[in-house]
Amino acid sequence: MMRRLLSSTIAASPTISLICRSSHIHRSSAIFCRQMSSTAEDVAMRLKSSGLLRSQGLIAGKWIEAYDKKVIEVTNPATGNVVSTVPCMGAKETNDAISAAYETFSTWSKTTAAERSKCLRKWYDLLIAHKEELGQLITLEQGKPLKEAIGEVAYGASFVEYFSEEAKRMYGDIIPAPLSDRRLLVLKQPVGVVGVITPWNFPLAMITRKVGPALASGCTVVIKPSELTPLTALATAELSIQAGIPPGVVNVVMGNASEIGNSLLASTQVRKITFTGSTAVGKKLMAGAANTVKRVSLELGGNAPCIVFDDADLDVAVKGSLASKFRNSGQTCVCVNRILVQEGIYEKFASAFSKAVEKLQVGDGFVDGVVQGPLINEAAVQKVESFVEDAISKGAKILLGGRRHNLGMTFYEPTVMTDVKSDMLLSREEIFGPVAPLLPFKTEEEAIRMANDTNAGLAAYIFTSNVQRSWRVSEVLEYGIVGVNEGLVSTEVAPFGGFKESGIGREGSKYGMDEYVEVKYVCLGNMNG
Ligand code: NAP
Repeated sequence: MMRRLLSSTIAASPTISLICRSSHIHRSSAIFCRQMSSTAEDVAMRLKSSGLLRSQGLIAGKWIEAYDKKVIEVTNPATGNVVSTVPCMGAKETNDAISAAYETFSTWSKTTAAERSKCLRKWYDLLIAHKEELGQLITLEQGKPLKEAIGEVAYGASFVEYFSEEAKRMYGDIIPAPLSDRRLLVLKQPVGVVGVITPWNFPLAMITRKVGPALASGCTVVIKPSELTPLTALATAELSIQAGIPPGVVNVVMGNASEIGNSLLASTQVRKITFTGSTAVGKKLMAGAANTVKRVSLELGGNAPCIVFDDADLDVAVKGSLASKFRNSGQTCVCVNRILVQEGIYEKFASAFSKAVEKLQVGDGFVDGVVQGPLINEAAVQKVESFVEDAISKGAKILLGGRRHNLGMTFYEPTVMTDVKSDMLLSREEIFGPVAPLLPFKTEEEAIRMANDTNAGLAAYIFTSNVQRSWRVSEVLEYGIVGVNEGLVSTEVAPFGGFKESGIGREGSKYGMDEYVEVKYVCLGNMNG
């Protein structure tokens, strides 16, 4: 993959021929690459003038380099071009960020709910005012189509708005006392400094979904975004400063993930880790948090079943499963991973679904009409390829796609596979790519057994016209989120989180605030005197 620094984070104008020189790109995609690259250039110029293209970490309100000056390159997954560099930080910078957050906690936690609410509201307004630029930044470093990226900004900002409102509702309780001279109170107080570790697939929303409630409750944060998508995190932090959130409340470090993670885990000043990412890393963090008995919230991997019953409305089932499966090119934790289709509708569904998948336009996220961007890197493509090969070797068939897209590099064809069995990798593991496996089933009991036959438990989907069945099946599915006749279910007002190995805790909604507050019981005695 070509890696070329676009002249000092694209500040100067790189020539188009320089940008597009890649052995992986054939002629037609070179034309398309030219269109994209000039857009990428415009994006960078605009972002630079708006002050949103940041290439340093943020500690105590100051933008800083790594202490040893090491940097990481951030690449555009659609082209392999390096779009910027950011500091490669480690334990020293993280400890300084923790100290800044700890010191600031003593003042930020004492602000009134109304003051915190105003700051968050201002932050929300700025995120929305800059949604185009932030969306472009997401497309540039993460690859999702621009419209989807701007949608992520609106979704991510909605958590800041929601928790700006919830800040004012952090009510405690007065409990009827069992003795006449006592008064029993319950106070809700912020947990303290929170370590926030986020993935690359939603570079903005996974931050705001955590930082919104953390700041609303009075916590301060040290954010560690993925090294693959740090630019969006830095722009989001820049807007928090412009919103008047005091220096030291929001700190951002990036670089050596295990060093940063271990520093957050080891510190007694950090009282909570909130993590979104893979189950494997989540387990490590949970184990590491035990030493200092930190609180943890974990939003981990999924393996979402989508059950299409014979009595489903075919159009609704196709539309819903398509929207869930191919969102962000299959790279979301709630993407449909397995489509279980009842025998009576199997052929009809397979045919209608494939026709819909065939229409999905693949390409660079900056090109109009594209709805399927690249995967995050070539390792992700190789993983998808190995899952498809495993399925074919065990008897599955390709109905559509099944190989790298002719755009090359990180692009994979939207794929539909039939005759998939429960023992194949496509069924057992999170695919995180644009491959839809269809598995036939006979009875409702069999579908429920197949759906629950996994250690994951994040999202599940059902398509049926039978109200009793929708209720019955929703109740027995071992999942934190169930979509009935709907493929897109995420919203700031509803709780998001998983059963089993998909995580601990909930984000968004009134439950999301609980993750960042301690409950303190105060007993007032001798009150009759
Ligand atoms: P990942 O590899 O687990 O990385 C997530 C974050 O953890 C990144 O910032 C990563 O840093 C960091 N990290 C890696 N090793 C670490 C360590 N030893 N200590 C501390 N931090 C460490 O996951 P990903 O590939 O970015 O994201 C995809 C996964 O996230 C999928 O499994 C998806 O299902 C899950 N996800 C879940 C939800 C949910 O709400 N449940 C939402 C979105 C995604 P670097 O990137 O810098 O290495």
